[in-house]
Order: sequence, then C-alpha cells, then structure tokens
Amino acid sequence: VECSTIFLGFYRRGLDQLDALRLERDRVQAAYDVKSQFVSVVSHELRTPLTSINGALGLLRTGAYAGDPEKARSILEVAHKNSMRLSALINDLLDLQKLEAGHMSYSFDRIDLPDLVEESIESISGFAETYGVKLEFTAPPTAVFISADRARIQQVLDNLLSNAVKFSHRGGTVEIRLETTANGTRLHVRDHGTGIPEGAREKVFGKFSQVDSSDRRAHGGTGLGLAIAQEIMQAHGGSIDYTSQIGKGTTFTIDFPQDVQ
Ligand code: ADP
Repeated sequence: VECSTIFLGFYRRGLDQLDALRLERDRVQAAYDVKSQFVSVVSHELRTPLTSINGALGLLRTGAYAGDPEKARSILEVAHKNSMRLSALINDLLDLQKLEAGHMSYSFDRIDLPDLVEESIESISGFAETYGVKLEFTAPPTAVFISADRARIQQVLDNLLSNAVKFSHRGGTVEIRLETTANGTRLHVRDHGTGIPEGAREKVFGKFSQVDSSDRRAHGGTGLGLAIAQEIMQAHGGSIDYTSQIGKGTTFTIDFPQDVQ
C-alpha cells in the first residue's frame, strides 16, 4: 500500500510538471507569434515607400521626362515624400525599440508647460493651415511647471496636435486647454472631427494600428505615435487617455503628477 501511495505521489507531481511545461511552451509560442507578426508588418511598412521611391527613380532614369521638367519634378516630389515617410518610420521604430527595452534615456528638467505647448502649436501651425484647422490655447494665467524631458514631451504634444488636426473637418477648431488639478497638471486636446468608434482603444494605442484602414491613405502616419506617447507618459509617472464620440470628436488628455511649482 505504501509503495503505491509513493508512486501515486510521484505520478501526480509528474503531471503537474508536464502542465507547467505545456504552459511555458504556449507562452513562448505566443511571444514568438507576436514577434514574427511584428517583423512581417514592419517589413511591409518599409517596403511600401521603398517601392514607390524605386518606381519614381526608375522612371526618371529612363530619361523619358528629360524634356518635361514639370513632370520630372512631380515624380521627384513623390520620391521625396516617400523617403521622408521612410525616415519618420525608422525614427519611430528606433524610439519604440529603445522605449520597450528600457533604453530610452530621459533628462528631466523643470519645464514651463504652457511655453512648450505654445512651441508645439507654432510648429504645427503650417500643417494646420493646410487642413484649414484653427488651434486655440487656454492656460491658467500663472506659469505651470512640470518635471519632464523637454524633447520627449514635445514629441507627445506634436503627435496629439497633429492627430487632432488630421482628424478634424476643414474649418474646424482644435481646443487645447491646460489646467492644474489636485493631483497634478492636465492637458486636454479636443477636436470636433471624425471621432473614434467604441472598442477601438487597443488599436488607438497599438503599434502600426490605425482605426480605419483608409486613414493611412488619407492622412499618412505610422500608427506608432500614440504607442510611443503612452510609453513616454508612463516614464514621466503620468498617463494618457481619451474620450470620444463618433461623428462628434475626440478629447485626448495627458496627466502629469504633482511637481514643485
Ligand atoms: P498615426 O501615425 O496613424 O496618427 P497614432 O498612433 O498617432 O498613429 O494614432 C493611431 C490611430 O488612432 C490613428 O491612425 C487614428 O485611427 C486614431 N486617432 C488618433 N487620434 C485621433 C483623433 N484625434 N481623432 C480620431 N482618430 C484618432
């Protein structure tokens, strides 16, 4: 009797270990699937602008447009636009890789946030004009300081503002409002554009994902901006979120924790 009890004990432990091994195998397989899907998406994303650049250069090489500088120029324009897209994509990818591996270095300074927002508005104003969108900024009358990495927060602001412009209707207004709360500092970026459908949260903050697959054609973009913004906000002890109503517009909110003011 004793012998069989000992045997049963071993047998059960063996089964438990087998279960644990199976779980581990599934986990590794899932991680591998995510990785290979990522590589295939990245390859596709890189290939699309490259194909266009190759096509444009191939056309120019034939010399067929030597007598038509206007046409040659427009072909060059296509190549240039795609090479800009390629470099934006590679920069985003490198950022994301560094962020996820925890290798992004931050240099925290005392930053006047309204100042930084003004700079971001300034840098995006030409882009907003092409979309016929106005940017309005309201801030408390006093200076609002946060502890932050200036360049990284600028990157987050540029992303939020350019998205708000891209998804606005022509003639629309984007309202940017800064407020201090009991817990820190909050910035709202509100547009009255297309809105985001319910259940799209994962796509919005996901990598390479755009809510509407026609967005890429209409607005460009890599689908990486908000994934990067989320990592940056977390590194600041802050957060990013949004509320939206389809057809009415979207408000993105970023929160910074309390700082010496
Ligand atoms: P992208 O480079 O495509 O703008 P993001 O990561 O910044 O990438 O945004 C991901 C997607 O989230 C966008 O493609 C769009 O579908 C959606 N999105 C982001 N901001 C807005 C907004 N203000 N209004 C509507 N949709 C938005």
